Amino acid sequence: GSDATTHGAAVILHDASSVITLQERVETLHDKAARDPLTQIFNRAEFDHQHEAFVKKHLEQMEPCSLIICDLDLFKSINDNYGHQAGDEALVNFTALLKRSYRPGDLVARYGGEEFAVILVGCPPDALTALAEKTREAVASADMPHMGEDGRGMTISIGAVAYEDMTMDAEAFVDCADQALLLAKSSGRDRVV
Ligand code: GH3
Ligand code: MG
Ligand code: MG
Repeated sequence: GSDATTHGAAVILHDASSVITLQERVETLHDKAARDPLTQIFNRAEFDHQHEAFVKKHLEQMEPCSLIICDLDLFKSINDNYGHQAGDEALVNFTALLKRSYRPGDLVARYGGEEFAVILVGCPPDALTALAEKTREAVASADMPHMGEDGRGMTISIGAVAYEDMTMDAEAFVDCADQALLLAKSSGRDRVV
């Protein structure tokens, strides 16, 4: 009032809980759509999406970075010799090893059945081979049950590529890594090209 006393008050409330629930549900759904159900790491669609944005940003800022694609060697024999359950376990164990091998900012994804891709943020070309080689060695020396043909340890082949050519796009970098991976396979497996 004119004498500064309060004669009444109005309280306006808006119940936003349904909106929050909807938002949470959208976020959960998005997370589900982006992840591989078996290994819980990013799936191919999410990799493609993030990789494209990542390459664009990298080329703009000229930060060093690299891509590796790993393929488990003779993986079909694990399924054939020990069953699909053992094959699934091997994929989960390999994912854990891969996640331990890279920094939190790097992007680890399941690219296809027994193929995995890692974007190594800030990794210059001269460090790439050593990092990829470390991963290969970690798998070859890992003590994992039911692995490899005739009980031999599991091995992986790796195609690695550093982003240096400014004229290349995301797809071309994946092609390059794929070519390197094919060479690693055809020249004997358990190696980095
Ligand atoms: P290479 O060294 O040439 O890569 O031989 P490979 O046996 O690993 O390759 P191939 O492409 O012949 O076989 C891949 C196998 O991976 C066959 C497929 O059944 C298996 N695989 C793919 N996804 C899964 C999965 O989610 N679970 C299981 N258990 N096996 C899978
Ligand atoms: Mg394969
Ligand atoms: Mg394979």
